[in-house]
Amino acid sequence: MKYYSLNNKAKEVSFKDAVIKGLAEDKGLYFPEEINPISNEIIENINNYSNEEIAFAAIQQFVGDEIPESILKNIIAETLRFDFPLVTIEDNIKTLELFHGPTMAFKDVGARFMARCLGYFNRDSDREVTVLVATSGDTGGAVASGFLGVKNVKVVILYPSKKVSDVQEKQLTTLGANISALEVDGTFDDCQAMVKKAFLDSAITDSKQLTSANSINVARWLPQMFYFFFAYKQLQDKNKKLVFSIPSGNFGNICAGMMSKKLGLPIHQFIAATNINDVVPKFLETGEYNPKPSHQTISNAMDVGDPSNFIRIQKIYNDDLETLKGDLHSYSFTDEETKKAMLHIYHNDNYIADPHGAVGYLGCKKYQENNPNTQCVFLETAHPVKFLDVVEPVIEKSLEYPPQIEAVINKTKKATFIKTYDALKAFLLTK
Ligand SMILES: *Cc1c(COP(=O)(O)O)cnc(C)c1O
Repeated sequence: MKYYSLNNKAKEVSFKDAVIKGLAEDKGLYFPEEINPISNEIIENINNYSNEEIAFAAIQQFVGDEIPESILKNIIAETLRFDFPLVTIEDNIKTLELFHGPTMAFKDVGARFMARCLGYFNRDSDREVTVLVATSGDTGGAVASGFLGVKNVKVVILYPSKKVSDVQEKQLTTLGANISALEVDGTFDDCQAMVKKAFLDSAITDSKQLTSANSINVARWLPQMFYFFFAYKQLQDKNKKLVFSIPSGNFGNICAGMMSKKLGLPIHQFIAATNINDVVPKFLETGEYNPKPSHQTISNAMDVGDPSNFIRIQKIYNDDLETLKGDLHSYSFTDEETKKAMLHIYHNDNYIADPHGAVGYLGCKKYQENNPNTQCVFLETAHPVKFLDVVEPVIEKSLEYPPQIEAVINKTKKATFIKTYDALKAFLLTK
């Protein structure tokens, strides 16, 4: 499969080059040249297929012959080594739990898939690749865990000091081996600015091959299609109109859902549920796309003021706002509404949602006010324990650590504290 840049200036590349480069030279996001429906037989008889078979059918065309079939199947099997249960919350509302992976956030699937593709592409190279990534929380842990032990790949993660949760910090600072953590005296934006500068610094790129691992990378984005198939497979009633409500920040996850619809999955409607960072809901309302600085909220993995994947969504709908509006509704919710929803879900439905999932739940409720004859699945993108400081005071109950968290929480943090770009540069050049 060939990929072209959505800025249309860089040349087309293979899947391999799209994965290694991350972003095109013209700074555009890569997009597949073709999207073909998968065999209808698989969708009609989806219960006869394993998750691994479904995932293979969905992603194979996007990889093409660049990874041999048997190896791609292995990569998928290793990526999907945990469950994706669909849990009933209320009549006509269900949640797909995407937090059963090693770091308990949905980003595990994309990170594990990308790490293994990169490991394969780099198998015979004597040149090491350095994955350089800035994180506001969840990405760092998922990337650290996904890339741990991958041959010829080093990972350097920058995170803002004192601005990630304890659990998140432990997940990205305790693994050692090929993973290094840099604790930056600054904000997430400072971390991101340093990473961007490093990518443009020839003193570094002359001697190091750098790549990124955020959701703009096609190998992190595309495997997220799997979730929508797994949800559909578990539905009892496959005829009732299906709606997905996706808590959205950079809009990578929802964009992958739209790809799954292109592949033939019968999805009636998408809801992009956001916190007060409402660039997309406003866009659908007014037709004007106005990026703005992000506001801090309790669902902080969605604190994004200029969602990087939205351009891919526009491409999927041929830049036609009216067609897009047919498939996509988007609502924004405040922290107060989110907390009320968490409390409601806890008391009425006996379920503990994290703040992101709660925003997704609100998206279902709002849509069903006017569309009652539908079934809505919201994605539960992280385990509530990852946002303890928000969840516990709201539901007035303390949560227990699941085994994945228990395994890291008492380990010793190892991070290098840095204050300036020069310190990052020195670190990269000496490691
Ligand atoms: C990253 C993240 C999101 C947002 O996903 P996008 O693909 O960026 O829209 C939502 N919830 C959680 C818990 C996340 O970590």
